Amino acid sequence: MPAPRKRIVVATGNAGKLREIKALLSDLCEVVGLDAFPGVSLPDEGEDYRENAAEKARVAARATGLPALGDDSGIEVAGLGGAPGPLSARYGGAELDAAGRNARLLEAISGVAAEARAARFYCVAAVAWPDGRVETAEGECRGRILDTPSGGGGFGYDPVFQPDGYDVSMAELPEVEKNRLSHRGRALVALRPAILRALA
Ligand code: IMP
Repeated sequence: MPAPRKRIVVATGNAGKLREIKALLSDLCEVVGLDAFPGVSLPDEGEDYRENAAEKARVAARATGLPALGDDSGIEVAGLGGAPGPLSARYGGAELDAAGRNARLLEAISGVAAEARAARFYCVAAVAWPDGRVETAEGECRGRILDTPSGGGGFGYDPVFQPDGYDVSMAELPEVEKNRLSHRGRALVALRPAILRALA
């Protein structure tokens, strides 16, 4: 009988992130969401990507007894002095949905010079062992903010972000292409050796 596949739990409540992380790691192991473990709640987030990612992973690993992956990510816009950054999920207020946040962002930089539309997605990914050890890796994807949202793929700010070297938004790319060039895809490639150690 073949050995059961190793499992890693992803410390996120964001369905878009979970879908991407499943695609990025499914060759290594079985990837399960935190929804498989009712009652595990994630810590409040601060303004430090690395601490946020590590703490999410640590909490999920301790609570489930499995290796856990945490991701903290955000969009940084030149014309906003690098904001919203680690606060991207709450930009404009918790009551806004993704479309509302995108509208708020476009409004905030309307009329700015082209250079001020330069932006990047940034991600710190963390893997935690159930004993509390953590390793992290980062990834970025540079691009610019579009004038209007475009495309229905991905999630979050993807419709308003055009990666450098492309003439479509992130939300218009097939998921496999987004995962190849995205901040999250790059962070997870860099984190693979540590993930393999945590699964061993
Ligand atoms: P957090 O990492 O849970 O704090 O949330 C990150 C927030 O940044 C998400 O809710 C999105 O708004 C945004 N974000 C992070 N990664 C992406 C991405 O790949 N595409 C679009 N938006 C993203």
